[in-house]
Amino acid sequence: MQPNRDIKNEFMYHRLVSSVVKAVSYANAKNPRYEIRVIEAYRTLERQNYLYSKGRTKDGSVVTHAQGGESYHNYGAAIDIGIFDKRNGSYKTNGNLYRGAEKVFNNFGLNYLRSSDLAHFQIATELDLPSIYKKKIKEGWEHSEAVDFIHIELDREFSLLRYWQDKTDFRLEI
Ligand SMILES: [Zn+2]
Repeated sequence: MQPNRDIKNEFMYHRLVSSVVKAVSYANAKNPRYEIRVIEAYRTLERQNYLYSKGRTKDGSVVTHAQGGESYHNYGAAIDIGIFDKRNGSYKTNGNLYRGAEKVFNNFGLNYLRSSDLAHFQIATELDLPSIYKKKIKEGWEHSEAVDFIHIELDREFSLLRYWQDKTDFRLEI
């Protein structure tokens, strides 16, 4: 967990950025006690594989069921949030807080992948990104080529945005 992660140099899709900003702003304005921050967005294949190795071939507990290419994070199409106490900045893990945030996030077009990961939200899309990825790998594509292909596909639907290009002083933790 890296609660103060700087995601300015990450990328997300336009639709995800606008949904996230609206949802986070709305939730934080409504709640005087807690602050929602985006703690992770885009992940490289390498980082995804590193996280997948935790609790399997590396020490620690399992943190993800997705290998590189199998997570919406790998396409800039998912975020993880953290909820923090505004009084002392402490990181909260109470599931009810995250379920409360879910209602707001759903209203802005962000869905859970599965109900067991309460901090994860991704754009609702007809495209099943991990399935497209796996299909390309079966067809013999390189991992990075398959990921790039999906970026191109998403670009048509969502407009790929290099996040820092026109949003340099944008704050998600409003
Ligand atoms: Zn996630």
